[in-house]
Amino acid sequence: MLNIVLFGPPGAGKGTQSQLLIDKYSLIHLSTGDILRGEIAKGSDLGLQAKSIMDRGDLVPDDVVIKMIQSILEYNLEAKGFIFDGFPRTTAQAESLDNMLADLNTAITTMLSLDVDDDELTKRLLERGKSSGRADDANESIIRNRINEYNTKTAPLKEYYNKQHKLQSIEGVGSIEEINTKLCVAIDNL
Ligand code: ADP
Repeated sequence: MLNIVLFGPPGAGKGTQSQLLIDKYSLIHLSTGDILRGEIAKGSDLGLQAKSIMDRGDLVPDDVVIKMIQSILEYNLEAKGFIFDGFPRTTAQAESLDNMLADLNTAITTMLSLDVDDDELTKRLLERGKSSGRADDANESIIRNRINEYNTKTAPLKEYYNKQHKLQSIEGVGSIEEINTKLCVAIDNL
């Protein structure tokens, strides 16, 4: 299997790049943010629990997102591989993912980390907020909180995967096509 953690701060372009990669490599896209927003739209208990947390820009509890991922992995055992987008976001999530994949006799192949500086991220997210309708894109202090959550809880995962010799950092500034090309080169060189 080809299992990719597409990594980077909010606004780095993970969702956009995931779409291009799933088509090219026939992978399943697993975005915890999209799944959570789907639960909110359905009005499920999980969605109700997650909404206020997400609107503040805080992280949803580990056990909630881990359970979500586990059930999706178990339903897609025939897949060629997965792109994990927005997951894992904490060390506990990364350890659980390693264990879940090991139980399925597979593993993370690589972490592709998109590097973009904080000012560029804030600019992109405020711009996206004009049309996304997302409460967490609408206001600069919530965006700063999301970036802060990323820097404190999520960015350490680069070192987690680096220790496993799986980290590849990619400059996330440039055109969508340029960044896509760099990601494809990194995947094809594996
Ligand atoms: P972005 O990367 O632009 O912030 P996402 O759609 O990935 O957007 O995430 C939106 C929100 O969903 C996060 O701020 C967080 O509240 C919640 N979320 C998504 N994935 C996770 C996760 N793996 N762990 C905890 N919370 C998550």
